[in-house]
Amino acid sequence: QIFSDRKNSLGLNMNVHSQADDFIAAVQQYRDKQWQGGPIVNGDVVDAHHRVSISSPQEMDRTVGTISWGDKALAEKALESANAAYRRWRDTDVEIRAKALEKFADLMEANRDELIALCSLEGGKSLQDGIDEIREAVDFCRYYAVQARELMSEPTELPGPTGEDNELFLQGRGTFICISPWNFPVAIFVGQVVAALVTGNCVIAKPAEQTGLVAFRTVQLALEAGIPGDVLHFMPGSGAEIGSYLVSQEDIGGVCFTGSTYTAQAINRALAARTGNIVPLIAETGGQNAMLIDSTALPEQAVTDIVGSAFKSAGQRCSALRVLYVQDDIADRVIELLKGAMAELKVGDPMLHETDVGPVIDGVSKTNLERHISDITQTGRLIGRAQLPEYTQGGLFVAPTAIEIDNINQLVKENFGPILHVIRYKTSELDDVIKSINNTGFGLTFGIHSRNETFAYDVARRIDVGNVYINRNQIGAVVGVQPFGGRGRSGTGPKAGGPHYLTRFITEKTRSNNI
Ligand code: GLU
Repeated sequence: QIFSDRKNSLGLNMNVHSQADDFIAAVQQYRDKQWQGGPIVNGDVVDAHHRVSISSPQEMDRTVGTISWGDKALAEKALESANAAYRRWRDTDVEIRAKALEKFADLMEANRDELIALCSLEGGKSLQDGIDEIREAVDFCRYYAVQARELMSEPTELPGPTGEDNELFLQGRGTFICISPWNFPVAIFVGQVVAALVTGNCVIAKPAEQTGLVAFRTVQLALEAGIPGDVLHFMPGSGAEIGSYLVSQEDIGGVCFTGSTYTAQAINRALAARTGNIVPLIAETGGQNAMLIDSTALPEQAVTDIVGSAFKSAGQRCSALRVLYVQDDIADRVIELLKGAMAELKVGDPMLHETDVGPVIDGVSKTNLERHISDITQTGRLIGRAQLPEYTQGGLFVAPTAIEIDNINQLVKENFGPILHVIRYKTSELDDVIKSINNTGFGLTFGIHSRNETFAYDVARRIDVGNVYINRNQIGAVVGVQPFGGRGRSGTGPKAGGPHYLTRFITEKTRSNNI
């Protein structure tokens, strides 16, 4: 029944002029708007002392607006209020919670153009990425609404061999602290929050520091959709202050986090150091994601998927391709085609229809990526770099770059941007290749291009990741179709947009009745 009548949203087809032109004109109207945001506690926007100005990564002189940051005292107030609301919300009929999610989805669709403009102006997202972002957020709401009804409408009857009636109830756990990343400032932000809410938890949502304004607008819509103000609180602020404070509180119900492996490990330590509730951590982190091209692959198809997987969204996806293994016999051809495809990539203003690759998120990111490119080209061989138009100088752009290296061990960490590493391998080295990929300890996505089905399935089985993609790109997991999440250093395993995700936000209670 879960899969019966719900359908993923359609989004927009940018190849149809009549749809694309109106949409682009509508989004452009927001170019000069200045947004204001701040913490929302008990439904009220709080004008906290510390106000931060947000500038646009594609044009650092352009401000998008200002947002005020919460502090510990405000976070404490939000947590108290959420904990006080918890039992009421938990015992609210699941149908009411599910309906609120569906209304929220409708409101995001109705406000799509503004949300996409903000994703672009604040987060540097291309228009197509913005369309996909809102679709995914909407799909999370509708998918989890259906699932929550399935799971939670009625208790499960269990056998009573001694004549008792036994029932199993699923309930929310308390107040979830949801900490989300800047690279999916609406989709992942919303996905975490609504999964927690629909299962009967209260939420304190802490957005990424870089993308608080679009998250703020999104929370306003959630409240408008009927989520009570004491159930959902919004707490922009510094991760080091607000995030650390919230995850070290005794009386939280759980933590849902998407971001770096390093921060997930720090949250794990903070949770372990507390007394009080023992709570779950749902973490989705990064990857050193590989793709393998064997000699039977179609080079043209493979290169289209390599370019999309490595450079779309400026490579700023956890799922993005970082290390490409190409079988020796086909390597020259693939590399030649890759060079050509990279020369065609249009880097620039993400609000233009023709742009393929926008900026990276901030100055720290740009510096780290440029440093990695200069370090790795000392030993590696540059395959190609895309062109940066003159006007991009005022923004945080990193030209998509491909470099041939000898060994995955040369990569000490995940490089979260448009950098692709290419390694040639011989068929006799396949076992070592598989071992090296698994030895990175990450386990998020893996791509394989091959026309030999037995071979592809065998490699897919042996690589320890959460998402494998055969003969296609390895990004853009679709809600209800490719549940997304990894293992090892890539996360604790729950798969967003999958049939088991909501159970991670739930605690179970049995009632044995001998009346
Ligand atoms: N779900 C996204 C994808 O499949 C990636 C999410 C992330 O970057 O955290 O591309």
